[in-house]
Amino acid sequence: MGFTLGIESTAHTFSFGLCDSSGHPQPSVSSFIRPEEGGIHPREAADHHVENSGALLKELLDKNNLTPEDFTAVAFSQGPGLGPCLRIGAAVARTLSQEWKVPLVGVNHCVAHIEVGREVCGCSDPVLLYVSGGNTQIIARLGGRYRILGETLDIGIGNMLDKFAREQGIPFPGGPRVETLAQEWIDANPDSRLSDYELPYAVQGMDLAFSGLLTAARHMVLKGKPLGAVCWSVQEHSFAACVEVAERALAHTGKTEVLLGGGVACNQRLRDMCSMMAGERSAQSFVPEKMYCVDNGSMIAILGRLQLLYGEDTELRQSAINQHLRTNETPILWS
Ligand code: AMP
Ligand code: MG
Repeated sequence: MGFTLGIESTAHTFSFGLCDSSGHPQPSVSSFIRPEEGGIHPREAADHHVENSGALLKELLDKNNLTPEDFTAVAFSQGPGLGPCLRIGAAVARTLSQEWKVPLVGVNHCVAHIEVGREVCGCSDPVLLYVSGGNTQIIARLGGRYRILGETLDIGIGNMLDKFAREQGIPFPGGPRVETLAQEWIDANPDSRLSDYELPYAVQGMDLAFSGLLTAARHMVLKGKPLGAVCWSVQEHSFAACVEVAERALAHTGKTEVLLGGGVACNQRLRDMCSMMAGERSAQSFVPEKMYCVDNGSMIAILGRLQLLYGEDTELRQSAINQHLRTNETPILWS
C-alpha cells in the first residue's frame, strides 16, 4: 500500500493532505477564504476552492517529492458541510481517482477529526470534544459507531466567536484574536470577577447553545464594557459549558480519555480547562498539534486509508456529497 491522498473542502478551507501506508500523516497544504466582510458565502468559498486546487496539489506533490504513482487511494470529505464547497472536493477526488486509477473513498468529516486525534495523540477510546466553526459535538464510540452524546442546538462555538469578533471589526477567523484580547485583559486585570461580566450559560442536559450568549456579549460591549473583558467572559462561559458536557460524557460512558478537535481546540485556555477537568477525575486529556485541529486534508487521508483497509471504498455512483451527514451514520469497523 502506498500513500492515501486526502481532500478537505467542507467549508472555508481547501486542503490536500496525505498519510503513508501505516497511517502516519504529513502536514497538509491548505488555503482558506478570508471574506472581506460578512461571513463565508458558500459559492464564493467554492470559487476559492476551484481557483486554488491545482496549485495546492502541485505544492503537496513537490514538497513530498511524490508522483501520482505513489498513491493507492484518493479520499475526500463527503459531508457534512456546505454543498457548493463539498461538490468541488468531490469533483477533484473523482477526477484524480479516475486519472490515477486508484480507489475513491468518501469519508465523514467529523469522524476524520476523531481518527486524526487518535493517530497523532495515541489515545485509544476517547470522548471527543469537537469544537469547530460549524460544529460543536461531544462524541464517543459505543457499539460500532461514534455517537453524538451532546451538541449545540443552534450555532457552532467557532461561528459564535467569529460573529462576535466580526461585529467588533475583527476579520475572519475571529477566534485567535478573541483569545489574545482575553489573555491581555486577564493579564492586566487578574482580579476580574466573572460575576461582573455575566453571560448566559446554556447547557441543557448534554446539549449546548451559543446564540443567547452571542447576543448578550454584543449588548455588553454596546453598554460600554471593555472589549477585552467581554472576550474573556465569552471564552470562560462558552468553554466551561463545553468542558462540563465533556465531563458528563466521561462520567456516563466510563471512558478515561478526552480528546479535543476542531479549530477552536487551538485555544490554549480551552486546552488548559480540559486538562484541568481530566486531571480532577484521573482521566487523560489529549490535543493534536494545531495543524491537525483545524480542517486539514491529512485527517481525511487517515480515515480514507482505514476505510479502504476494511473494504469501505466508494463506488462512483455512491460518491454524491451529503451536506447533512451525521457522525453516527458511519460504521466504525476498526479498533
Ligand atoms: P474549523 O471549522 O475546524 O476549521 O475551525 C475554524 C474555527 O476555529 C473558526 O471559527 C476560528 O475562529 C476558530 N479558531 C481558530 N483558532 C482559534 C483560537 N485560538 N481560539 C478560538 N477559536 C479559534
Ligand atoms: Mg472541521
